[in-house]
Amino acid sequence: MRPFLSHPFDDDKLKEECGIFGVTGVADAANFVALGLHALQHRGQEAAGIVAYDPVEGFNNVRRFGYVRDNFTKPDVMQMLPGTLGIGHVRYSTAGSKGHTAIRDVQPFFGEFSMGGAAIAHNGNLTNAASLRRELIERGSIFQSSSDSECIIHLMARSIQQNISERIKDALRRVEGAFSVVAMTRTKLIGVRDPMGVRPLVLGRIGDSGWALSSETCGLDIIGAEFVREIEPGEMVVIEGNKVASTRPFTPATSRFCIFEHVYFSRPDSILGGRSVYETRRQIGVELAKEAPVEADLVCPVPDSGTPAAIGYSQQSGIPYAMGIIRNQYMGRTFIEPTEQIRNMGVRLKLNVNRALIKGKRVILVDDSVVRGTTSRKIKDMILDAGAAEVHFRIASPPTAWPCFYGVDTPERSKLLAATMTEDEMRDWIGVDSLKFISLDGLYRAAGEAAGRDPKAPRYCDACFSGDYPVAPADQIEKGFQMKAAE
Ligand code: SF4
Repeated sequence: MRPFLSHPFDDDKLKEECGIFGVTGVADAANFVALGLHALQHRGQEAAGIVAYDPVEGFNNVRRFGYVRDNFTKPDVMQMLPGTLGIGHVRYSTAGSKGHTAIRDVQPFFGEFSMGGAAIAHNGNLTNAASLRRELIERGSIFQSSSDSECIIHLMARSIQQNISERIKDALRRVEGAFSVVAMTRTKLIGVRDPMGVRPLVLGRIGDSGWALSSETCGLDIIGAEFVREIEPGEMVVIEGNKVASTRPFTPATSRFCIFEHVYFSRPDSILGGRSVYETRRQIGVELAKEAPVEADLVCPVPDSGTPAAIGYSQQSGIPYAMGIIRNQYMGRTFIEPTEQIRNMGVRLKLNVNRALIKGKRVILVDDSVVRGTTSRKIKDMILDAGAAEVHFRIASPPTAWPCFYGVDTPERSKLLAATMTEDEMRDWIGVDSLKFISLDGLYRAAGEAAGRDPKAPRYCDACFSGDYPVAPADQIEKGFQMKAAE
């Protein structure tokens, strides 16, 4: 039975679309890929796929709905994936069949070319995928999925280059937007980041003979691989045997890594741009406490993503940190199909208030973001029901007022609370005593930019906060999306 995969209580968060992983030079590569994908499961829980290559068995491919652990641990599944080279992908759908993914949309995609087969998996979103697809269909391509990433395979098929790596370059020079890619041929593992490096990708070493590519360093840790370096923005690495060849296939661009990876998407134990994600989040809390102090008795995180920022807020303010809200760790996405009655229980199914602690207290709640605001309201109700004297929200990101078109699932602009209300209006709508967001400058300071955000040359993509899109979202503009007017 296909599990229920659209969790009704996680719908008030931005969601990362994908995680990618690849290994070469190890026996039973698919086992390593499965472990890497398991570590990247937070980046996509809807479906996962692995392609492996074995000289005798050729390319094999397994794609399944659900968690990695529920599929890619079974001996009968893993036996289908022999070989020393493999790539994989975990998916949460954004582009493609949003909300009702078909198995044909699950990556990696595979193509057979005159010079041999190749598989490719992609994290991010191509902002010109619709126009490319139209063009390719007019020229005779037959698409089998609704995924952006299939465009890359068709562009590769049309390239006149004589080897797969060159065909990947040709294809990726035609696409716009955000993409980190892992790909494989019969002998090579390939990694590419888009010219601005919006989405992450890192290289690791496995013993003396193996290599790994992973969206995050936590994927390397789980297989005991040593972190070597990040793939740089605009870089392509081709790994064959013990050799890692690096090229720069794209016109150089200024790096604009997604700042939300620091705030929420990446795991706190990962290292991004040489910085500990946990430490950046803790520092966000420190900045928040400086920018938005308030008298209170307790600082409580909204678990789990608000935890490091709440620790930082508590350390800076001197107000005690406490677990005022407890998360039910076993509330998986494969929970029973929600009836209306269960939906009405709402966030209580996932979070519960520590009543004995909260009663009579002035509570600061630290959360990572406010998207629609619906969950914030419910959490406030729970805290007040438990007898809190005051509730103050402190948010570890600036107001999310613009949608992301680079691989993160965001509601349309009209559904974003911050796009339609001022901070004071949001405070009143949520119904709390105070509501404060970290400033964009404060977020940049926490992420290592001591001078804050340079408006002329921002180091990060922060479009969902600023409306400053580093790559114009061509398909969306064609559909009528209004960019922010130049200031
Ligand atoms: S718009 Fe926001 S979520 Fe999307 S890439 Fe930029 S910073 Fe990240």
